[in-house]
Amino acid sequence: MRDVWDTDALRAADRSHLWHPFTPMQEWCAGDPLVLARGRGAMLCDTEGRWYLDGNSSIWTNIHGHNHPVLNAALRAQLEQVAHVSFLGTTHEPAIRLAHKLVSNFPPDSLTRVFFSDDGSTALEAAMKMAVQFRQLQGEPLRTGFVAFDGAYHGDTLGAASLGGIGLFHRPLEGHRFPVWRVPSVEALRRTLRENAGRIGAVVLEPLIQGAAGMRPWRAGMLRELRQVCDREDVFLILDEVMTGFGRTGRLFACQHEEVVPDFLCLAKGLTGGYLPLAATLTTSRVFEAFLGPVEAGRTFYYGHSYSGNPLGCAVALASLEIFETERVLERLQPLIAHLDCRLGSLQVLPQVHEIRRCGFVAGIELRHPGGVAFDWSERVGARVCMAARGHGLLTRPILDTIVFMPPLCVTGSQIDAGVEALALAIREVLG
Ligand SMILES: *Cc1c(COP(=O)(O)O)cnc(C)c1O
Repeated sequence: MRDVWDTDALRAADRSHLWHPFTPMQEWCAGDPLVLARGRGAMLCDTEGRWYLDGNSSIWTNIHGHNHPVLNAALRAQLEQVAHVSFLGTTHEPAIRLAHKLVSNFPPDSLTRVFFSDDGSTALEAAMKMAVQFRQLQGEPLRTGFVAFDGAYHGDTLGAASLGGIGLFHRPLEGHRFPVWRVPSVEALRRTLRENAGRIGAVVLEPLIQGAAGMRPWRAGMLRELRQVCDREDVFLILDEVMTGFGRTGRLFACQHEEVVPDFLCLAKGLTGGYLPLAATLTTSRVFEAFLGPVEAGRTFYYGHSYSGNPLGCAVALASLEIFETERVLERLQPLIAHLDCRLGSLQVLPQVHEIRRCGFVAGIELRHPGGVAFDWSERVGARVCMAARGHGLLTRPILDTIVFMPPLCVTGSQIDAGVEALALAIREVLG
């Protein structure tokens, strides 16, 4: 047994035993992984005492910063009560209060029910299974197809992965995904619905901006049009706000920008402020009531996970939502969004900065050859720039050659400046 776990020992053991998500492991095992030890606000510190800006909010999860005293206190208080009890057959205060708080953000009689699970993927799985079973219960068993958009990303479990439109991620699963109609636009959706009348039950969208597609915003008004199309055809609208939720776009939820309420709203990543895995699928009374009836009628939604509604997650999520109010987070975010926009604009002078895409506090900086030709995939320019940025105190990950910049909402103006400067230095270092 080892008793001293210094950084080198940790790295060696990681290389021997770990298998990391979305990671080419041969390259990983040939390198020296960054071992993070602690955090404060928008910053993270490694085991050797170096600090970095958390430039992608720890894969889009962190909202109010790391080691937040209020979140820590809420978590500790719940821990002193009980860490976990089953949500199958019993209930508890943190989940009840969190559900109450979540639905209070929407008009009464719209989203009124909350189904808890663990991750973004499972929030989508729950919505999909509810949508399918709803049609069966309504006597339309053929109307269970889904439509998703090109470039969509909705998670990695098989149902959610079936909705995904990113070839690289999903090619290995070809033949093991259930059929999904894929469209590039609302126009194409109208056509698809017309041509497949009676077979499509729901449309799924990342509202306002697609994340894993490379931070690609939709045009203004798209979401409202989509809602109208869904209403006209009586097709469910499932909004995946796993990335856009909890202030990231400048409002608490992206759908609020266009005053759209979906039939299903999927939340995860930022729900607990980035502390613990917890997800929620919100839906309407119309959906919920279709599942009511005597047990023997077989209308029950038989789906759930061992840690559904975990009390620690619910307690910290509730505290995170309260911080939005007590710290007036969205109000204070608005000038910071303008600041971010302005600072990112300064990158435009670099000839390899092809396009800066932004929605609220989410940004993607796409790099190409001067003149606009994309880099060859095998050059791994995005990955190399992110590695170089690390040397200047910025942690983030690319999506191909698009660098993601979306720090926690608590970031300061000068931390944004330092992060953007680190990125500029890294781009110059790698691309000359
Ligand atoms: C991350 C993400 C998911 C999947 O969430 P997990 O918690 O990783 O399962 C789904 N949809 C969107 C839009 C995401 O960004």
